[in-house]
Amino acid sequence: MSTRLSKARRVVVKIGSALLVEGTTGTVKSPWLDALVDDLAALRARGAEVIAVSSGAIALGRRTLGFANGDLRLEEKQAAAAVGQITLAQAWSEAFRARKIVAAQVLVTLNDTEERRRYLNARATLTTLLQQGAVPVINENDTVATSEIRYGDNDRLAARVASMMSADCLVLLSDIDGLYTALPGTPDARLIPEVTEITPEIEAMAGRPVSGLGSGGMITKLEAGKIALAAGCNMVIGSGHALNPLCRIEEGAPATWFVASASPLASRKRWIAGSLVPMGRLIVDQGAARALGSGKSLLPAGVKRIEGAFARGDAVSIVSEGGGEIARGLVAYDAAEAARIAGRRTGDIEVILGFRGRDEMVHRDDMVMTGAA
Ligand code: GLU
Repeated sequence: MSTRLSKARRVVVKIGSALLVEGTTGTVKSPWLDALVDDLAALRARGAEVIAVSSGAIALGRRTLGFANGDLRLEEKQAAAAVGQITLAQAWSEAFRARKIVAAQVLVTLNDTEERRRYLNARATLTTLLQQGAVPVINENDTVATSEIRYGDNDRLAARVASMMSADCLVLLSDIDGLYTALPGTPDARLIPEVTEITPEIEAMAGRPVSGLGSGGMITKLEAGKIALAAGCNMVIGSGHALNPLCRIEEGAPATWFVASASPLASRKRWIAGSLVPMGRLIVDQGAARALGSGKSLLPAGVKRIEGAFARGDAVSIVSEGGGEIARGLVAYDAAEAARIAGRRTGDIEVILGFRGRDEMVHRDDMVMTGAA
């Protein structure tokens, strides 16, 4: 019995095309999807928030457009995805609706989770969907993607989503039940139940340095694992072949667990405080400094001055009037907007800027205390 999944508060589940789409007919495997959605509904019923990252658009769309077998050119894949994504979203929506759950289609590019400004937006939108009780069903926006669409891209995408959303568990469901010490099926191959660090030895097991051949897409799964572990998120690679795969993993079915050493919150704070270079400074008054010290967000009213040229979502340093750094955080306005609303009440933001932005200049979830308030 594995409790890492049953205890998780926010779970991202990635579903590979081969599990969801019948290869010969190019249609959705509805009984399988229904059973998976039962598992997801069960997680929610226990209080977890769930996000699905679903592949399958290309596999579902290719036959409709008359692309039968074999490899597709990039533009053919993008065209197939445009057709298949509709079917894919509809299948998810119907499966959830039958269980009185709202599904939400979210199409992103890998960059949405990397680039600062979009990151804040994407995180806030997904958080809003979760707060309203919906299940985001995410796929890459394949039709407009500018790089080659590769099998396995969604492994990394799912890990980036898990990291961005501070999820505590990422499940990669595929046609293989975990990481093996050698190519699965060969005499020496044993399943590794637990990994705490992705070392060169572990990478060698995925096939890279030894043979140059990946075993069942394991290389992209290890890349996903690195992203997840750095974000304090546990990850499990498990087989999705049978019905109710999440339930099976919880009951201890063979799988490989990648176990994170820090929590998602601690990892996120380390990222904000340590990895990002502050692009500007917000000088705050004493009242705001005290409020930050007691765990509050930074409101525009407490900001005396701004320095630097930063964009929305950039990291900034929050300093006292004496010049000492109090905190660092991701700022919700660019430098020009911040200068205009500094010292003003939150209720005035819309009148000053002409749009209704965030109430906070820096939200407490996006902030780390770095000095004394
Ligand atoms: N985004 C692709 C699709 O929906 C799949 C990419 C992947 O499987 O990693 O067809």
